[in-house]
Amino acid sequence: MPSLCLFGAQWGDEGKGKIIDGLAPDNDMVVRYQGGANAGHTVVVGGERYVLHLIPSGVLHPGKCNVIAGGVALDPFQLLEEIRELRERGVKIEPSNLRVSARAHLILDHHKGFDLLAEQLRGDAKIGTTGRGIGPAYADKASRSGLRMGDLLDESRFEARLIPALVEKNEIRAALGGEAPLDVQAQLARYSALREDLAPFVCDTGAEVRDAYARGERVLFEAAQGAMLDLDHGTYPFVTSSSTAVNGIPAGVGFPARHLDRAWGIAKAYCTRVGEGPFPTEQHGETGENIRRLGHEYGATTGRPRRCGWLDAVALSYALEWNGADGLVLTNLDVLSGFERIGVGVAYRIDGQRIERFPAELASLEGVEVEFVELEGWQEDITQARTFGELPAAAQAYVEWLEERLGVPLVLLSVGPGREQVIDRTAGR
Ligand code: IMP
Repeated sequence: MPSLCLFGAQWGDEGKGKIIDGLAPDNDMVVRYQGGANAGHTVVVGGERYVLHLIPSGVLHPGKCNVIAGGVALDPFQLLEEIRELRERGVKIEPSNLRVSARAHLILDHHKGFDLLAEQLRGDAKIGTTGRGIGPAYADKASRSGLRMGDLLDESRFEARLIPALVEKNEIRAALGGEAPLDVQAQLARYSALREDLAPFVCDTGAEVRDAYARGERVLFEAAQGAMLDLDHGTYPFVTSSSTAVNGIPAGVGFPARHLDRAWGIAKAYCTRVGEGPFPTEQHGETGENIRRLGHEYGATTGRPRRCGWLDAVALSYALEWNGADGLVLTNLDVLSGFERIGVGVAYRIDGQRIERFPAELASLEGVEVEFVELEGWQEDITQARTFGELPAAAQAYVEWLEERLGVPLVLLSVGPGREQVIDRTAGR
């Protein structure tokens, strides 16, 4: 089957970078299709840690084509910085292995400013954004005043679109009593200086991905964030501003939905969330602290401590269901070693009613009580296990119980950050 999507099935940070890196050798193209530098995909190779924000996680494999599709909100400075850092570490980045969509919307300085300002104005109702300008950039895209990568390459068009945009933004800044106006000429010069460096990578990525698929090449779609942060299907308004799962591919890439052959969700063996918003299985006491300490649960982009809790089978089933997932990758299983008992949320109790389906309305989650089942833990270090049979009986039982409960095969189990620390259960399936 030539196309596969790997999407986060929780609230992001499920370990997509490592798994995409592991799947890249079996694919020809890796396509990042939404989000922006709010993501931080970590790949560890030979003890070296790479954190990728925009560039797809297939980039560490020579000969693979990495695509940043049109649905990505692209900070051009961040992209050039990432290219520079990777090159400095000996990773080849050339127009032959990195393709950037002319349709990708630019995140400009004022988007980042407005992101921070909007959070301040929200006060107690803040979302806890990453401050990377994601919301304001997608808002401009939807209101048709955004600038795209293709505009940046055309000097006169860029000028013609940037000047009115900045005049408008400066007026809004002034009205909000915010920072000093952005200097229009300085901004023009700042972005124009990038033109030459970026131009060789820019193309019609939608056409390139469709052509590759038509030639029978294998295409791997790399999501950012998680299904529960999806703009439409997540815990709105505590979400990001893009379509974070399988739904983002047709629009974000320009790829036919009927050519999406497989979809795998990815989830941690427990659950984390950064930023505000509902998190029914969150553990505030010692358990949450232990998970945070053992799992090094701090944001790869912002360094913020992540909120930690037990796996939420209600939310996870929902994410797998609305994306039609035919496989689940479970990560950080090794982090659970040493817990006496392992909790899994299996139902919610809301206003005295027991429900197993994630509610459509956020208000319904107010005062939610979670019904947990407790499974037996294991004490052994499992980071060296490479086959299912090498796992302790309790870890095997945990995986099999989840599989049964979720109704989706657990195809890969990750037992550590390294490339090789994976148990592959796809054989014979
Ligand atoms: P934004 O995407 O920066 O607007 O942030 C909106 C919400 O999504 C906030 O709660 C962020 O913490 C969360 N978020 C954005 N990107 C990521 C990510 O890559 N991992 C986890 N959470 C994220």
